[in-house]
Amino acid sequence: MAPLEHSPDSVIIADNVRKIREGIRQAALRVGRDPSTVKLVAATKTVALQQLIEAYVAGVRIFGENRLQEAQEKIPAIGPRQGLAWHFIGRMQRRKLKDIVGKFSLLHSVESVEQARSIQAIAETLGVQQEILLEVNVAGEDSKGGFALQHMPGALKQIGQLPHVVIRGLMTLPPFRDDPEDARAYFSELRRLRDDLAQESMSQGGVRELSMGMSHDYRVAIEEGATMVRIGTAIFGNRR
Ligand SMILES: *Cc1c(COP(=O)(O)O)cnc(C)c1O
Repeated sequence: MAPLEHSPDSVIIADNVRKIREGIRQAALRVGRDPSTVKLVAATKTVALQQLIEAYVAGVRIFGENRLQEAQEKIPAIGPRQGLAWHFIGRMQRRKLKDIVGKFSLLHSVESVEQARSIQAIAETLGVQQEILLEVNVAGEDSKGGFALQHMPGALKQIGQLPHVVIRGLMTLPPFRDDPEDARAYFSELRRLRDDLAQESMSQGGVRELSMGMSHDYRVAIEEGATMVRIGTAIFGNRR
């Protein structure tokens, strides 16, 4: 294997990944959690291929993209690599679903029963099981997609019956505030919902993951139970 060139960029990315891992570790330990139960998902929108490679070399194994077109360029460009997984973390337009289902190991933001049924139909045709998270609009914001809290038990029941769709957990994007402490109540609400749903027979014990927390508030999210944090700027710097 050719030696890797270390550009100043790669040093920064490796350093950022190290800092995030330390931040994850400390946040988990503060609340008595095992740090290895928190997965780091690197949010890759606008990030160039070389930076992705540097993040991979620094140990990142999950990339989360929310722009399909970018993913369609990056996934073949970086190619299959040991342990590397791609998640889709953005909103999914109906006409794009056929290019998303089966191409990503986890879809973070399934936002309606109808959408889950469309995913089911495509996954069935492909002969695959598509793992998903259900996005919950905890704050009830009009600008965001996701299930209303009170619709969740019913949605779980309906989606749980789709044989080619596997519900792994829940995801949320709380209202953006400068102070990460302001997101804490939304994160704990999602965890409570997860704990309630995990009791339901339809969930078959699968509703476990909590995808919550981004660059500025991932520590709070972990303290409240996040099992996946989606981090972009704290790894790659500000987006262009
Ligand atoms: C961009 C993005 C992130 C990462 O945001 P940062 O603030 O850059 O860490 C997380 N989740 C989703 C859905 C995103 O689109």
